[in-house]
Amino acid sequence: MLDLTDFKGRKDIKSMTLEEVSEEMAALGEKSFRAKQIYDWIHVKLVESFEDMSSLSKELRQKLKEHYSLTNLRIVEERVSQIDGTRKYLFGLEDGNIIESVWMQYHHGNSVCISSQVGCRMGCRFCASTLDGLERNLRASEMLDQIYRIQSVTGQRVSNVVVMGSGEPFDNYDNVIRFLHLISHEKGLNISQRNLTLSTCGIVPGIRRFAEEGLGVTLALSLHAPNDEVRRTLMPIANSYQLKDVLEACRYYHEKTGRRLTFEYSLVRGVNDNLDEARALARLIRDQHGHVNLIPVNPIKERDYVQSGQKAIAEFKNLLEKSGINVTIRREMGRDIGGACGQLRKSYMEGEE
Ligand code: SAH
Repeated sequence: MLDLTDFKGRKDIKSMTLEEVSEEMAALGEKSFRAKQIYDWIHVKLVESFEDMSSLSKELRQKLKEHYSLTNLRIVEERVSQIDGTRKYLFGLEDGNIIESVWMQYHHGNSVCISSQVGCRMGCRFCASTLDGLERNLRASEMLDQIYRIQSVTGQRVSNVVVMGSGEPFDNYDNVIRFLHLISHEKGLNISQRNLTLSTCGIVPGIRRFAEEGLGVTLALSLHAPNDEVRRTLMPIANSYQLKDVLEACRYYHEKTGRRLTFEYSLVRGVNDNLDEARALARLIRDQHGHVNLIPVNPIKERDYVQSGQKAIAEFKNLLEKSGINVTIRREMGRDIGGACGQLRKSYMEGEE
């Protein structure tokens, strides 16, 4: 089992499975139905303190307070887009770190994009989350609470979760798996695994291990280039794993889970957006079960990457479609409230409000 002790030496009860809470209660000499009640207070009623668990005796609440911590993220800032209602949240963690999450409304329901780490060490050239490196991994409770707090303040059910915010989920593997089990648990928020998506930069052993977990989660691969040469200029991880092996792992993931994949491709002007590259991309993923999600790159001020023009994007998309590939273009949500992936946190940390 993962070490669930927090920096004050208390155990992080929000990261525990129902079975683990049951074991804890047995060890404290409590009846087993108490574990179910506590789990329900934490993961369904979304209480913020042990005090609020009003069906428990005062003595038990006191005992819980002594032995356990109840992770609570603090909302540092909430920004609401005037364009599409998207909301971005900056959350404060107990150790003073700051993370960001995004809430988006779609016709099929509300979706939350969560961070899996504070910062990131993958070094993708176009991404703001990685500019200052990795600070630390998030615990499962800190991933859950991004969703719990957002559901509480919006008063609306979250039906989809994408692990696509700051961080590389396979660089924090055990906590992320624990999170996926907890968020889809039938006695918790019970979000269907089909409605969970995890995005990776392409860590081959991570993808293969994930295929064996028995989870029906959608996998998104950050591809961003049709060959290793271009990919290496954008993503340092491409020096560790060749595309051939990454795509073989993706195929294996599909075989094991039956889930179709998403291939994310951020279009950067003059870097990966010409028609030869579209052709090469089509060839590369022709035999994969999945579709391409084109993302016009969101320029960050630390780099001089520029978005591809409308025409180039349309031509790139057409060529893929003519080759029989399904393509979507990612709608830019919340454009007016702080850009992409890690940009809001970064500007907050730099005091550019
Ligand atoms: N580490 C994971 C998940 C986080 S990034 C991964 O690499 O997939 C989520 C997606 O946004 C990735 O596809 C990433 O490459 C992309 N992304 C990050 N910054 C971006 C930017 N400025 N413009 C466009 N896409 C970006």
